[in-house]
Amino acid sequence: MLDIKAIRQDFPILSREVNGKPLVYFDNAATAQKPKVVEEAIKNYYETINANIHRGVHTLSQLATDAYEESRLKIQQHVNAKHSHEIIFTAGTTFGINLVANGFGTLLKEGDEVIVSALEHHSNIVPWQFACERSGAKLRVIPMNLEGELILSEYDTLLSEKTKVVAITHISNALGTINPIKEIIIKAHAVGAAVLVDGAQATPHIKPDVIDLDCEFYVFSGHKICGPTGTGILYGKEEWLNKLPPYQGGGEMIKQVTFEKTTYACLPHKFEAGTPNISGGIVLGHAIDYLNGIGFDNIAAYEKELLDYGTARLLEIDGLKIYGTAKEKTSVISFNIANIHPYDIGVIVDKLGVAVRTGHHCTQPIMDFFEIPGTIRASFSFYNTKEEIDILVEAVKKAQTMLS
Ligand SMILES: *Cc1c(COP(=O)(O)O)cnc(C)c1O
Repeated sequence: MLDIKAIRQDFPILSREVNGKPLVYFDNAATAQKPKVVEEAIKNYYETINANIHRGVHTLSQLATDAYEESRLKIQQHVNAKHSHEIIFTAGTTFGINLVANGFGTLLKEGDEVIVSALEHHSNIVPWQFACERSGAKLRVIPMNLEGELILSEYDTLLSEKTKVVAITHISNALGTINPIKEIIIKAHAVGAAVLVDGAQATPHIKPDVIDLDCEFYVFSGHKICGPTGTGILYGKEEWLNKLPPYQGGGEMIKQVTFEKTTYACLPHKFEAGTPNISGGIVLGHAIDYLNGIGFDNIAAYEKELLDYGTARLLEIDGLKIYGTAKEKTSVISFNIANIHPYDIGVIVDKLGVAVRTGHHCTQPIMDFFEIPGTIRASFSFYNTKEEIDILVEAVKKAQTMLS
Protein backbone atom coordinates (compact mmCIF):
# COMPACT_ATOMS: atom_id res chain seq x y z
CA MET A 1 0.00 0.00 0.00
CA LEU A 2 1.33 3.40 -0.97
CA ASP A 3 0.96 6.48 1.18
CA ILE A 4 -0.14 8.74 -1.67
CA LYS A 5 -0.48 11.79 0.58
CA ALA A 6 3.16 11.47 1.62
CA ILE A 7 4.25 10.76 -1.96
CA ARG A 8 2.48 13.91 -3.17
CA GLN A 9 4.49 15.92 -0.66
CA ASP A 10 7.59 14.84 -2.58
CA PHE A 11 6.31 16.74 -5.66
CA PRO A 12 6.06 20.48 -4.94
CA ILE A 13 4.39 21.23 -8.29
CA LEU A 14 1.38 19.10 -7.37
CA SER A 15 0.28 21.64 -4.79
CA ARG A 16 0.18 24.58 -7.17
CA GLU A 17 -2.91 26.05 -8.72
CA VAL A 18 -3.62 26.48 -12.41
CA ASN A 19 -6.21 29.02 -13.54
CA GLY A 20 -7.25 29.43 -9.92
CA LYS A 21 -7.91 25.70 -9.45
CA PRO A 22 -5.77 23.00 -7.87
CA LEU A 23 -3.61 21.40 -10.54
CA VAL A 24 -4.70 17.94 -11.69
CA TYR A 25 -1.78 16.66 -13.72
CA PHE A 26 -2.86 13.89 -16.08
CA ASP A 27 -0.24 14.35 -18.79
CA ASN A 28 2.21 11.88 -17.32
CA ALA A 29 2.67 10.00 -20.59
CA ALA A 30 4.17 13.21 -22.03
CA THR A 31 6.46 13.88 -19.10
CA ALA A 32 6.51 13.04 -15.41
CA GLN A 33 6.77 15.57 -12.60
CA LYS A 34 9.98 15.65 -10.56
CA PRO A 35 10.34 14.80 -6.89
CA LYS A 36 12.30 17.07 -4.56
CA VAL A 37 15.19 14.59 -4.39
CA VAL A 38 15.72 15.12 -8.11
CA GLU A 39 15.66 18.91 -7.84
CA GLU A 40 18.05 18.75 -4.88
CA ALA A 41 20.42 16.40 -6.68
CA ILE A 42 20.65 18.85 -9.60
CA LYS A 43 21.41 21.73 -7.24
CA ASN A 44 23.84 19.64 -5.24
CA TYR A 45 25.75 18.64 -8.36
CA TYR A 46 26.24 22.24 -9.51
CA GLU A 47 27.04 23.50 -6.04
CA THR A 48 29.58 20.84 -5.09
CA ILE A 49 31.17 18.82 -7.92
CA ASN A 50 30.50 20.51 -11.27
CA ALA A 51 33.41 19.71 -13.63
CA ASN A 52 33.94 17.98 -16.96
CA ILE A 53 34.31 14.22 -16.77
CA HIS A 54 36.74 11.55 -18.01
CA ARG A 55 39.50 14.06 -18.69
CA GLY A 56 40.74 16.11 -15.76
CA VAL A 57 43.12 14.82 -13.12
CA HIS A 58 41.80 17.38 -10.68
CA THR A 59 39.61 16.42 -7.75
CA LEU A 60 36.30 17.84 -8.98
CA SER A 61 36.67 16.11 -12.33
CA GLN A 62 37.32 12.85 -10.51
CA LEU A 63 34.28 13.34 -8.28
CA ALA A 64 32.02 14.18 -11.22
CA THR A 65 33.37 11.21 -13.21
CA ASP A 66 32.81 8.87 -10.27
CA ALA A 67 29.24 10.09 -9.79
CA TYR A 68 28.50 9.74 -13.52
CA GLU A 69 29.91 6.22 -13.68
CA GLU A 70 28.14 5.22 -10.46
CA SER A 71 24.91 6.29 -12.10
CA ARG A 72 25.74 4.09 -15.10
CA LEU A 73 26.22 1.13 -12.74
CA LYS A 74 22.94 1.87 -11.02
CA ILE A 75 21.12 1.94 -14.37
CA GLN A 76 22.88 -1.27 -15.42
CA GLN A 77 21.49 -2.92 -12.29
CA HIS A 78 18.07 -1.39 -12.80
CA VAL A 79 17.65 -2.84 -16.30
CA ASN A 80 19.63 -5.98 -15.41
CA ALA A 81 22.25 -5.55 -18.15
CA LYS A 82 25.24 -7.86 -18.16
CA HIS A 83 27.89 -5.12 -18.55
CA SER A 84 27.96 -1.45 -17.56
CA HIS A 85 29.46 -0.58 -20.96
CA GLU A 86 26.21 -1.77 -22.53
CA ILE A 87 24.56 1.31 -20.97
CA ILE A 88 24.89 4.37 -23.22
CA PHE A 89 23.81 7.77 -21.93
CA THR A 90 21.71 9.60 -24.54
CA ALA A 91 19.52 12.67 -24.77
CA GLY A 92 16.36 10.52 -24.74
CA THR A 93 14.40 7.85 -26.54
CA THR A 94 14.38 9.73 -29.84
CA PHE A 95 18.15 10.06 -29.75
CA GLY A 96 18.63 6.38 -28.85
CA ILE A 97 16.43 5.13 -31.68
CA ASN A 98 18.12 7.46 -34.17
CA LEU A 99 21.52 6.21 -33.03
CA VAL A 100 20.56 2.58 -33.65
CA ALA A 101 18.57 3.18 -36.85
CA ASN A 102 21.36 5.31 -38.29
CA GLY A 103 23.75 2.43 -37.66
CA PHE A 104 21.42 -0.01 -39.36
CA GLY A 105 21.20 2.38 -42.30
CA THR A 106 24.79 1.35 -43.04
CA LEU A 107 24.32 -2.37 -42.26
CA LEU A 108 21.10 -3.00 -44.21
CA LYS A 109 20.96 -3.61 -47.93
CA GLU A 110 18.37 -3.88 -50.68
CA GLY A 111 16.05 -6.83 -50.11
CA ASP A 112 16.32 -6.55 -46.32
CA GLU A 113 13.26 -5.71 -44.27
CA VAL A 114 12.59 -3.73 -41.10
CA ILE A 115 9.42 -4.42 -39.13
CA VAL A 116 7.69 -1.82 -36.96
CA SER A 117 4.14 -1.86 -35.63
CA ALA A 118 0.94 0.12 -36.06
CA LEU A 119 1.34 1.30 -32.47
CA GLU A 120 4.64 3.13 -32.86
CA HIS A 121 5.41 6.68 -31.78
CA HIS A 122 6.73 8.74 -34.71
CA SER A 123 10.19 8.48 -33.20
CA ASN A 124 10.15 4.72 -33.81
CA ILE A 125 8.94 5.15 -37.40
CA VAL A 126 10.77 8.05 -39.00
CA PRO A 127 14.37 6.99 -38.12
CA TRP A 128 13.64 3.58 -39.69
CA GLN A 129 12.26 5.27 -42.80
CA PHE A 130 15.59 7.12 -43.02
CA ALA A 131 17.47 3.83 -42.64
CA CYS A 132 15.35 2.20 -45.35
CA GLU A 133 15.79 5.13 -47.73
CA ARG A 134 19.53 4.99 -47.25
CA SER A 135 19.89 1.26 -47.66
CA GLY A 136 17.08 0.24 -49.99
CA ALA A 137 15.53 -1.94 -47.27
CA LYS A 138 11.75 -2.15 -46.94
CA LEU A 139 9.60 -1.09 -43.98
CA ARG A 140 6.82 -3.50 -42.98
CA VAL A 141 4.14 -2.83 -40.38
CA ILE A 142 2.42 -5.20 -37.94
CA PRO A 143 -1.26 -4.19 -38.01
CA MET A 144 -3.56 -3.87 -35.00
CA ASN A 145 -7.18 -4.66 -34.22
CA LEU A 146 -9.94 -2.33 -32.99
CA GLU A 147 -8.95 -2.92 -29.37
CA GLY A 148 -5.51 -1.52 -30.14
CA GLU A 149 -3.75 -4.88 -29.87
CA LEU A 150 -1.21 -6.03 -32.41
CA ILE A 151 -2.34 -8.91 -34.63
CA LEU A 152 0.39 -11.44 -34.03
CA SER A 153 -0.72 -13.84 -36.74
CA GLU A 154 0.00 -11.02 -39.21
CA TYR A 155 3.39 -10.55 -37.59
CA ASP A 156 4.10 -14.23 -38.26
CA THR A 157 3.43 -13.74 -41.95
CA LEU A 158 5.64 -10.64 -42.14
CA LEU A 159 8.63 -12.38 -40.57
CA SER A 160 11.12 -14.02 -42.91
CA GLU A 161 14.83 -14.40 -43.40
CA LYS A 162 14.66 -10.93 -45.02
CA THR A 163 13.75 -9.41 -41.64
CA LYS A 164 16.85 -7.83 -40.12
CA VAL A 165 15.34 -5.62 -37.43
CA VAL A 166 12.10 -5.51 -35.49
CA ALA A 167 11.57 -2.14 -33.80
CA ILE A 168 8.64 -2.24 -31.45
CA THR A 169 7.19 -0.26 -28.60
CA HIS A 170 6.86 -2.02 -25.24
CA ILE A 171 3.78 0.07 -24.32
CA SER A 172 1.77 2.38 -26.59
CA ASN A 173 1.83 6.02 -25.50
CA ALA A 174 -1.45 6.77 -27.29
CA LEU A 175 -3.56 3.77 -26.24
CA GLY A 176 -1.75 2.22 -23.29
CA THR A 177 -1.55 -1.24 -24.90
CA ILE A 178 1.14 -3.43 -23.35
CA ASN A 179 2.60 -5.48 -26.17
CA PRO A 180 3.53 -9.16 -25.67
CA ILE A 181 7.09 -8.07 -26.11
CA LYS A 182 8.77 -11.31 -25.11
CA GLU A 183 6.83 -13.35 -27.63
CA ILE A 184 7.58 -10.73 -30.30
CA ILE A 185 11.31 -10.95 -29.52
CA ILE A 186 11.39 -14.76 -29.56
CA LYS A 187 9.70 -14.80 -32.96
CA ALA A 188 12.13 -12.20 -34.35
CA HIS A 189 15.09 -14.21 -33.11
CA ALA A 190 13.74 -17.31 -34.81
CA VAL A 191 14.40 -15.63 -38.19
CA GLY A 192 17.68 -14.09 -37.03
CA ALA A 193 16.41 -10.50 -36.66
CA ALA A 194 17.63 -8.05 -34.02
CA VAL A 195 15.06 -6.32 -31.84
CA LEU A 196 14.92 -2.75 -30.60
CA VAL A 197 12.36 -2.11 -27.87
CA ASP A 198 11.06 1.43 -27.37
CA GLY A 199 10.69 1.47 -23.60
CA ALA A 200 9.76 5.16 -23.23
CA GLN A 201 6.26 4.41 -22.07
CA ALA A 202 7.04 1.19 -20.22
CA THR A 203 9.83 2.36 -17.91
CA PRO A 204 7.56 4.63 -15.80
CA HIS A 205 5.52 1.55 -14.88
CA ILE A 206 7.78 -1.49 -15.22
CA LYS A 207 11.34 -2.33 -14.26
CA PRO A 208 12.77 -3.68 -17.52
CA ASP A 209 14.85 -6.85 -17.47
CA VAL A 210 16.91 -6.88 -20.64
CA ILE A 211 18.41 -10.30 -19.95
CA ASP A 212 15.01 -11.85 -19.52
CA LEU A 213 13.65 -10.02 -22.58
CA ASP A 214 16.81 -10.89 -24.52
CA CYS A 215 16.31 -7.84 -26.78
CA GLU A 216 19.30 -6.42 -28.65
CA PHE A 217 18.41 -2.82 -27.77
CA TYR A 218 16.19 -1.16 -25.19
CA VAL A 219 15.74 2.62 -25.14
CA PHE A 220 14.01 5.02 -22.78
CA SER A 221 13.83 8.66 -21.66
CA GLY A 222 14.81 10.09 -18.28
CA HIS A 223 12.08 12.72 -18.18
CA LYS A 224 9.26 10.18 -18.23
CA ILE A 225 10.64 8.43 -15.13
CA CYS A 226 10.87 11.52 -12.91
CA GLY A 227 14.36 12.39 -14.18
CA PRO A 228 15.61 15.50 -16.01
CA THR A 229 14.74 16.32 -19.61
CA GLY A 230 17.54 15.76 -22.10
CA THR A 231 18.52 12.44 -20.54
CA GLY A 232 17.96 8.91 -21.70
CA ILE A 233 19.43 5.46 -21.94
CA LEU A 234 20.26 3.15 -24.78
CA TYR A 235 20.93 -0.39 -23.65
CA GLY A 236 22.56 -2.52 -26.33
CA LYS A 237 24.03 -6.00 -26.28
CA GLU A 238 27.79 -5.68 -26.39
CA GLU A 239 28.20 -7.52 -29.69
CA TRP A 240 25.60 -5.28 -31.35
CA LEU A 241 27.05 -2.05 -30.01
CA ASN A 242 30.39 -3.21 -31.39
CA LYS A 243 28.78 -3.95 -34.75
CA LEU A 244 27.12 -0.53 -35.11
CA PRO A 245 29.19 2.41 -36.39
CA PRO A 246 29.59 5.48 -34.15
CA TYR A 247 26.77 8.01 -34.44
CA GLN A 248 28.49 11.30 -33.72
CA GLY A 249 32.16 12.13 -34.05
CA GLY A 250 34.08 14.33 -31.65
CA GLY A 251 35.83 14.33 -28.33
CA GLU A 252 35.52 11.44 -25.88
CA MET A 253 34.58 8.87 -28.57
CA ILE A 254 38.05 8.41 -30.06
CA LYS A 255 41.10 6.33 -29.27
CA GLN A 256 43.47 8.07 -31.64
CA VAL A 257 42.98 10.86 -34.15
CA THR A 258 45.20 11.72 -37.07
CA PHE A 259 44.14 13.49 -40.25
CA GLU A 260 44.49 10.18 -42.11
CA LYS A 261 42.57 7.87 -39.81
CA THR A 262 40.76 7.90 -36.50
CA THR A 263 40.23 4.88 -34.30
CA TYR A 264 37.31 4.77 -31.92
CA ALA A 265 37.20 4.46 -28.19
CA CYS A 266 35.78 1.31 -26.66
CA LEU A 267 32.25 1.04 -25.29
CA PRO A 268 30.45 2.96 -23.95
CA HIS A 269 32.53 5.98 -25.02
CA LYS A 270 32.28 5.15 -28.73
CA PHE A 271 28.67 6.40 -28.58
CA GLU A 272 29.17 9.27 -26.15
CA ALA A 273 30.87 11.98 -28.22
CA GLY A 274 31.38 15.38 -26.64
CA THR A 275 30.59 16.65 -23.17
CA PRO A 276 27.42 14.88 -22.11
CA ASN A 277 24.57 16.06 -19.87
CA ILE A 278 26.66 15.28 -16.79
CA SER A 279 24.29 16.46 -14.10
CA GLY A 280 21.39 14.89 -16.00
CA GLY A 281 23.08 11.50 -16.15
CA ILE A 282 23.91 11.60 -12.46
CA VAL A 283 20.46 12.78 -11.44
CA LEU A 284 18.75 10.13 -13.57
CA GLY A 285 20.29 7.64 -11.15
CA HIS A 286 18.65 9.50 -8.26
CA ALA A 287 15.27 9.42 -10.04
CA ILE A 288 15.58 5.65 -10.50
CA ASP A 289 16.49 5.27 -6.82
CA TYR A 290 13.38 7.23 -5.93
CA LEU A 291 11.11 5.01 -8.05
CA ASN A 292 12.70 1.84 -6.73
CA GLY A 293 12.14 3.20 -3.23
CA ILE A 294 8.42 3.34 -3.97
CA GLY A 295 8.62 -0.02 -5.73
CA PHE A 296 7.51 -0.87 -9.24
CA ASP A 297 5.15 -3.59 -8.02
CA ASN A 298 3.39 -1.02 -5.82
CA ILE A 299 3.33 1.48 -8.68
CA ALA A 300 1.81 -1.03 -11.11
CA ALA A 301 -0.84 -2.21 -8.64
CA TYR A 302 -1.92 1.32 -7.71
CA GLU A 303 -1.94 2.58 -11.29
CA LYS A 304 -4.12 -0.40 -12.27
CA GLU A 305 -6.59 0.74 -9.62
CA LEU A 306 -6.56 4.25 -11.10
CA LEU A 307 -6.99 2.86 -14.61
CA ASP A 308 -9.99 0.74 -13.63
CA TYR A 309 -11.57 3.56 -11.66
CA GLY A 310 -10.93 6.14 -14.37
CA THR A 311 -12.27 3.87 -17.12
CA ALA A 312 -15.48 3.16 -15.21
CA ARG A 313 -16.03 6.80 -14.27
CA LEU A 314 -15.36 8.20 -17.75
CA LEU A 315 -17.67 5.65 -19.35
CA GLU A 316 -20.51 7.15 -17.30
CA ILE A 317 -20.37 10.11 -19.68
CA ASP A 318 -22.86 9.92 -22.55
CA GLY A 319 -21.24 9.62 -25.96
CA LEU A 320 -17.77 9.03 -24.58
CA LYS A 321 -15.69 6.49 -26.42
CA ILE A 322 -12.40 5.05 -25.22
CA TYR A 323 -9.77 4.20 -27.82
CA GLY A 324 -7.49 1.39 -26.73
CA THR A 325 -9.26 -1.37 -24.86
CA ALA A 326 -6.54 -3.99 -24.87
CA LYS A 327 -6.65 -6.67 -22.19
CA GLU A 328 -3.11 -5.77 -21.18
CA LYS A 329 -3.09 -2.05 -20.66
CA THR A 330 -1.33 0.59 -18.60
CA SER A 331 -2.80 3.72 -16.98
CA VAL A 332 -3.50 5.68 -20.17
CA ILE A 333 -7.05 6.51 -21.26
CA SER A 334 -7.54 7.99 -24.72
CA PHE A 335 -11.06 9.12 -25.44
CA ASN A 336 -13.35 11.32 -27.48
CA ILE A 337 -16.87 12.59 -27.04
CA ALA A 338 -19.27 12.33 -29.96
CA ASN A 339 -19.32 15.42 -32.20
CA ILE A 340 -16.83 17.43 -30.11
CA HIS A 341 -13.25 18.15 -31.16
CA PRO A 342 -10.73 16.87 -28.58
CA TYR A 343 -8.90 20.21 -28.59
CA ASP A 344 -12.02 22.07 -27.41
CA ILE A 345 -12.40 19.73 -24.44
CA GLY A 346 -8.70 20.10 -23.59
CA VAL A 347 -9.00 23.90 -23.49
CA ILE A 348 -12.01 23.87 -21.20
CA VAL A 349 -10.70 21.27 -18.74
CA ASP A 350 -7.44 23.25 -18.55
CA LYS A 351 -9.47 26.25 -17.38
CA LEU A 352 -10.63 23.95 -14.58
CA GLY A 353 -7.06 23.04 -13.62
CA VAL A 354 -6.90 19.69 -15.40
CA ALA A 355 -3.88 19.01 -17.63
CA VAL A 356 -4.57 16.41 -20.33
CA ARG A 357 -3.00 15.92 -23.70
CA THR A 358 -5.06 16.43 -26.83
CA GLY A 359 -4.05 15.67 -30.39
CA HIS A 360 -2.41 12.80 -32.22
CA HIS A 361 0.21 12.07 -29.51
CA CYS A 362 2.96 11.67 -32.15
CA THR A 363 1.09 8.61 -33.42
CA GLN A 364 -0.71 9.80 -36.55
CA PRO A 365 -1.03 6.28 -38.01
CA ILE A 366 -3.08 5.25 -34.95
CA MET A 367 -5.39 8.26 -35.41
CA ASP A 368 -5.73 7.41 -39.13
CA PHE A 369 -6.61 3.83 -38.21
CA PHE A 370 -9.49 5.04 -36.03
CA GLU A 371 -10.31 7.82 -38.56
CA ILE A 372 -10.14 10.55 -35.94
CA PRO A 373 -8.10 13.78 -35.76
CA GLY A 374 -6.89 12.99 -32.28
CA THR A 375 -8.00 12.06 -28.80
CA ILE A 376 -8.06 13.46 -25.30
CA ARG A 377 -5.52 11.48 -23.31
CA ALA A 378 -5.50 11.23 -19.54
CA SER A 379 -2.45 9.36 -18.29
CA PHE A 380 -2.13 8.54 -14.59
CA SER A 381 0.94 8.25 -12.42
CA PHE A 382 1.46 6.80 -8.94
CA TYR A 383 1.10 10.30 -7.43
CA ASN A 384 -2.42 10.78 -8.84
CA THR A 385 -5.61 10.04 -6.92
CA LYS A 386 -9.18 8.91 -7.48
CA GLU A 387 -10.34 12.33 -6.26
CA GLU A 388 -8.43 13.86 -9.14
CA ILE A 389 -10.16 11.47 -11.54
CA ASP A 390 -13.48 12.70 -10.16
CA ILE A 391 -12.40 16.26 -10.94
CA LEU A 392 -11.51 15.22 -14.50
CA VAL A 393 -14.89 13.57 -14.98
CA GLU A 394 -16.75 16.64 -13.73
CA ALA A 395 -14.60 18.89 -15.92
CA VAL A 396 -15.28 16.78 -19.02
CA LYS A 397 -19.01 16.78 -18.28
CA LYS A 398 -18.94 20.55 -17.95
CA ALA A 399 -17.07 20.88 -21.23
CA GLN A 400 -19.60 18.61 -22.90
CA THR A 401 -22.49 20.76 -21.67
CA MET A 402 -20.79 23.94 -22.84
CA LEU A 403 -19.91 22.55 -26.27
CA SER A 404 -23.13 20.80 -27.22
C1 LIG B 1 7.75 9.85 -25.38
C2 LIG B 1 7.93 8.71 -26.29
C3 LIG B 1 8.95 8.69 -27.25
C4 LIG B 1 9.86 9.86 -27.46
O1 LIG B 1 10.58 10.16 -26.32
P1 LIG B 1 11.42 11.52 -26.23
O2 LIG B 1 11.70 11.63 -24.77
O3 LIG B 1 10.54 12.61 -26.74
O4 LIG B 1 12.64 11.33 -27.05
C5 LIG B 1 9.07 7.58 -28.03
N1 LIG B 1 8.28 6.52 -27.90
C6 LIG B 1 7.29 6.49 -26.99
C7 LIG B 1 6.44 5.26 -26.87
C8 LIG B 1 7.07 7.58 -26.16
O5 LIG B 1 6.08 7.56 -25.27
